[in-house]
Amino acid sequence: MGKVFILMGPPGCGKGTQTSRLSAKLSLPHVDTGSLLRKNIEDGTALGAEAKGYMDKGELVPAELVSRIIKNRLEQDDARGGYILDGFPRSIEQAHILEGIQNELGYDTENVAIYFDVPTEVLVERLVNRRSCPQCGKIYNLLSIKPQVEGKCDVCNVDLIQRSDDTAEVANARFKTYNESTAPLLDYFSDKGILKKINANLPIDEVWAQILELLGK
Ligand code: AMP
Repeated sequence: MGKVFILMGPPGCGKGTQTSRLSAKLSLPHVDTGSLLRKNIEDGTALGAEAKGYMDKGELVPAELVSRIIKNRLEQDDARGGYILDGFPRSIEQAHILEGIQNELGYDTENVAIYFDVPTEVLVERLVNRRSCPQCGKIYNLLSIKPQVEGKCDVCNVDLIQRSDDTAEVANARFKTYNESTAPLLDYFSDKGILKKINANLPIDEVWAQILELLGK
């Protein structure tokens, strides 16, 4: 049976970085709703235009839009054997939507939710110092994971960018949204017996080691 990993945690908890590793290790597609939404904005789609207003304010994009994106992505053949969800579901409503999509698709998979536990005090600092490569997506941090040449990606040598919602003001709004809408999912997944917790307030390799242990690798 294939596995579906649902990576959960507050903004800046490091799940994007770990998902890239997990995706490479298990050869499972990385399905990141935030990136898919940003791609729609870049491509100038109607969906992107509608989503942008919510994203700029740190609010959840309406579930109907996100579920369309997720369904389109999961219909692709590479998701049949399992996939990693990064940033979805983000509410109980979306968890029900996911169950509906999974029933409809009928793939032989089981869900495992991994919660990245980090005290929120350290997260605003992480977010405002986060930069990424627009080409390969590699994530840097100006304090802890600095690029070798200031402002440039180590791999692609292009200028690093800062996400427009990684400012202190929008980051705070994103935490509020997380606490109100997403945190209740912890009990929801725990009640289903599929929730695993890791301490994500550690260096990247140590967080990765916990994930490997959880996978039994
Ligand atoms: P992220 O890249 O995961 O931090 O997401 C950036 C922004 O995209 C969030 O602050 C939301 O506005 C929007 N977003 C991403 N995933 C979802 C989702 N599952 N539901 C609603 N909005 C989302």
